[in-house]
Amino acid sequence: MTFDTLGLTPRLLGNVRLSGYTAPTPIQAATIPHVLRGRDVLGCAQTGTGKTAAFALPMLQRLAEKPVYAGETRRVRGLILTPTRELAQQIDDCFVMYGKGVPVTHTVLIGGVNQNAQVEALRRGVDVVIACPGRLLDLMGQGFVKLDSVEIFVLDEADRMLDMGFIHDVRRVVAALTRPHQTLMFSATMPAEVEKLAMDILHDPESVKVDPVSSPVERINQSLYYVDKANKKHLLADILRREDVENCLVFSRTKHGADRIVRELKRAGIDSVAIHGDKSQNARQTALNRFKSGECKVLVATDIAARGLDIEGLSHVVNYDLPMEPESYIHRIGRTGRAGRDGTAISFCCIDEVKQLGQVEKLIGRRLPLKESDWPMEITTPSEPKPRLPRGERPAKLDRQGNPAQPRPKPREREAKPALPKGGQVITIGRDGKVRRDGPVLGRPVQRVNRGKR
Ligand code: AMP
Repeated sequence: MTFDTLGLTPRLLGNVRLSGYTAPTPIQAATIPHVLRGRDVLGCAQTGTGKTAAFALPMLQRLAEKPVYAGETRRVRGLILTPTRELAQQIDDCFVMYGKGVPVTHTVLIGGVNQNAQVEALRRGVDVVIACPGRLLDLMGQGFVKLDSVEIFVLDEADRMLDMGFIHDVRRVVAALTRPHQTLMFSATMPAEVEKLAMDILHDPESVKVDPVSSPVERINQSLYYVDKANKKHLLADILRREDVENCLVFSRTKHGADRIVRELKRAGIDSVAIHGDKSQNARQTALNRFKSGECKVLVATDIAARGLDIEGLSHVVNYDLPMEPESYIHRIGRTGRAGRDGTAISFCCIDEVKQLGQVEKLIGRRLPLKESDWPMEITTPSEPKPRLPRGERPAKLDRQGNPAQPRPKPREREAKPALPKGGQVITIGRDGKVRRDGPVLGRPVQRVNRGKR
């Protein structure tokens, strides 16, 4: 099959060629004609299958059919909701690539950065908004975005929206789409709540299903090391020093864990960067750019931060910690082995992660091939969950400088303040006839005394 048969305009076909694509991927071949005909689509596909072009190309074409002329106000006619900032940025990059010379403008609305540039772009008028739910709702609340002109709505990675607790935000956004519109919804998996959402927001949709989540790409060479938790850092450094590792995405279960891995790799003389939710958007983008440009060959990420990242030619993925949800394993390893290239996915499993390993192997329907290292598993007793110390015996919290923070006095231990009479000041006339005023300065006490009456 070629792109020529899908009904795209010569301009878009030219842009597709410039992007280096020779043939449509299955999701593109199946989705683009339906979208061009104005149908709703429910796409079961994960990132890496080419689904961005599957919705972006026909969306650009349909919106360009009704151009906005000079002097007219541009209103938001296309809305793409996506769970992570990186993914929003990536989709925007695709719009730049696929939309060259197409009179459709676009912008991203994401949190973690100052809103001024986004507000300015909205003021100038924009056709397509690519947004994360939080910032979009925020700007809607401030009156900067109106969704009453949206003609095409794309809900990307719906299952991840659910995992990240955004499903109510998504429903609030959907409720603001007042005019009839076309809806395209994509999800790698279909949990019950996502299915219910699909039933609520899609009208007579065409279903398109490719690459179900339980079939990881065959080209990915998967392997497993049993290793004690404390030795994972040595094994990782050893693997990263191997020559065939061009670049590697390392998954950590927690944000602190990601930072710790970066520190430990630094000690081993290996440069790496981390992205996770506690980093500012600028820090995340800088880290991603350093990694994508090849300046730094190791990126350490949490699941949420790495979701949907499209890194061309990623040679290795390392599951430093096994994921809590087995489906995440497939999302993680799917970052490598893309665009016809081979990839390697290596997982570490310590004694506390045996249960997660079992769940992953059950999902993919096979045992992961075992490899041996210089750090075989020696601890075979799962660690006891740490008991919570009674109040007062817990380690002191640290302040920003790393010093033990001063404990806050308990409310009843705080010094009782004498009640102030109405007016806020105690006026005493001394024996000498002098007037003494005790109590707070004038103005404030009145507020204090009246506070309980509101
Ligand atoms: P996506 O699933 O949209 O994130 O796309 C994953 C990767 O596949 C991106 O690097 C795209 O540039 C690439 N891609 C998308 N469509 C095609 C295609 N038809 N042929 C080759 N690569 C493609």
